[in-house]
Amino acid sequence: MPPKSLNFVASPENRFKKRMANLYLIGVPAAGSIFWLFNMKKFPLTWIEVSCFLTFYVLTGLSIGLGFHRCFSHQSYRPIRPLKLAMLFFGSLACQGSIVRWVADHRRHHRLTDKEWDTHSPCYVEDRKFSSLVKGLVHAHFTWMFDRTTTDHQTYAKDILKDPDIRFFNKFYYPITLLTFLLPAAFGYLLGGSEHLISCLLIGGALRTTVFHNVTWSVNSIGHAFGSRDATENDDSRNNLFLALLTFGEGWHNNHHASPRCAINQWKWYQIDMGGWLLLGMERIGLVSKIHRKHL
Ligand SMILES: [Zn+2]
Ligand SMILES: [Zn+2]
Repeated sequence: MPPKSLNFVASPENRFKKRMANLYLIGVPAAGSIFWLFNMKKFPLTWIEVSCFLTFYVLTGLSIGLGFHRCFSHQSYRPIRPLKLAMLFFGSLACQGSIVRWVADHRRHHRLTDKEWDTHSPCYVEDRKFSSLVKGLVHAHFTWMFDRTTTDHQTYAKDILKDPDIRFFNKFYYPITLLTFLLPAAFGYLLGGSEHLISCLLIGGALRTTVFHNVTWSVNSIGHAFGSRDATENDDSRNNLFLALLTFGEGWHNNHHASPRCAINQWKWYQIDMGGWLLLGMERIGLVSKIHRKHL
């Protein structure tokens, strides 16, 4: 059992809710992706489907990385309100849990990185035999979302619960997630007519969500197992170029763990951090301010 002060193990009712919520958030996009894979001839990839996939990948990906993570979890900069609302909206479309749940789970990960009761860590399995590493990687990748722990929001996200905008997106989270399928369908309809409606729903909605699920989860699994440790050896986080490219800079995860509040993940010239560059650009035109730059 974890120490009481950590508030991880909630009631069986909360545990049930958590598992059902994750089953919906993961299962529906995955079912849509599998359906598309078996019906690719009926719903072919054209430039409309590809641009739909990329548009929603970039919008949701940046909103998770720069919004849910760097802004709301770590308060590493301050956005103007329209940008904040846009990040809350598109971050919710990533189907990775409501803003409050995402922040609480992530802060718990930072508090206990690669230790027992970390939200998700491949080191959860203590001995380092190959079979255990695989078990640990699978746990860190996604089975942690079905384990018996739940993270207490009051303990880990009390500050953001005071924000009415965040409370709004938290309250209406599940109806909003439906738009992750409906908006790509509308995108396909507007650009190519009714024959692109279902294909864009499947490719720009379901498949894009499933792909980005796995990309984000890889930061928790691969990003704590494979890569370099240039900034800190206090935990098992890694810097990984491949993950950094797919996540707009979140893959410099060892840098991030060394200095969680730093908004810029690029510490060396070759560490490509597209999200960080975008932040610096937005600062110039007044969309964000108070960027935390100091990394150690
Ligand atoms: Zn981490
Ligand atoms: Zn973090």
